[in-house]
Amino acid sequence: MPIYLDNAATTQVCPQAAQAAFQAMTVEFGNPSSGYAAGQAAAAQVKHHRETVARCLGCLPEEITFTSCGTEGDNWSIRAAAEHGRRAGRHIITTAIEHAAVLEPVRDLERQGYEVTYLKPDRAGRISAEALAAALRPDTVLVSMMLVNNELGTILPVAQAARAIRAGGAPALLHCDAVQGFLKVPFTPRELGVDLLTISGHKIRAPKGIGAQYIRKGLKLKPLLLGGGQEGGLRSGTEPTAQIAALAAACEAWKPEYREQIRGVKDYALEKLKEVPGLEVISPGDAPHICAVSLPGYPSEMLVRELSDRGICVSSGSACHKGKPSHVFAALGLPKRTLMGVLRVSFSPESTREEADALAQALSAITQNRIAMR
Ligand code: PLP
Repeated sequence: MPIYLDNAATTQVCPQAAQAAFQAMTVEFGNPSSGYAAGQAAAAQVKHHRETVARCLGCLPEEITFTSCGTEGDNWSIRAAAEHGRRAGRHIITTAIEHAAVLEPVRDLERQGYEVTYLKPDRAGRISAEALAAALRPDTVLVSMMLVNNELGTILPVAQAARAIRAGGAPALLHCDAVQGFLKVPFTPRELGVDLLTISGHKIRAPKGIGAQYIRKGLKLKPLLLGGGQEGGLRSGTEPTAQIAALAAACEAWKPEYREQIRGVKDYALEKLKEVPGLEVISPGDAPHICAVSLPGYPSEMLVRELSDRGICVSSGSACHKGKPSHVFAALGLPKRTLMGVLRVSFSPESTREEADALAQALSAITQNRIAMR
């Protein structure tokens, strides 16, 4: 097994989730829409799993719609919120450091005539709640702000955004991409004051292919998929019972004490990484599991390859932007040499201090080899 320090890209499925999926595929394998006992048993399981996910998120079961991934939830939220506010206006606010799953549908709306304000981060990757309040307009129909940035680990002021929307009287719905925040930082959708919130299973040790969408009770949203009327008519399609079972099991398997445990390993890793000659910490991360560093003058892609040769997996930025400097780091206004040498290191409950030592040692060895070759 490699040393896997790229848990913001995806996570290893935990045994509880794998077992739950196996059980759902082989024992309670009925179609939840079938009227006979095997179908009803599957339907009862889905109901139970929805309750579990809702409990872990801190909302009502009827506020949860299962989706296939975070991208689906983000796309749906943005398109449906624009549709919801079509009579109220055509102005959207988001941040320059959102995931592509938010930025791309927003750009699509921009092409259709929507006006978009992209809030810029400061050098530390922080988005100002005051800038958001100043950008709100009577025709703002959507604010989309992530909870935890996937490359910097910074926490964004989502609750302040909700208060500003309410205080300003804008008709805007507030969507939050909480894909990197779910379980890693404490929150509930109600505490944040959001209307829509998106999570994804594969970031929390459930398999790929499952996510969940929070839709505030009372909010009428345009359905994503029409068909057999599953998921309260909002997202038709036979429920992926195995993935749903695995998502619920991964939620239940997550212990609150993991947060401090993961933060402890990350803080230790940052101390060790600071000993690597030339290394700069770009973002220590507010969230417990993500930090970003740079080795100026060493192209990230080369570092990722060399670390991979040594059995260590880290990311050169978001795994969704292979090869290109990430728009998130670019938005920080970093010098080019620093920007090109960025690495994201991200941790899980399985991560250890020994793995952090190995990463720091490998990076030191890479810098030493370069000096020896000069
Ligand atoms: N939003 C954020 C912040 C992410 O980190 C990711 C995945 O990297 C996504 C959305 C997309 O989620 P998924 O991979 O489940 O489509």
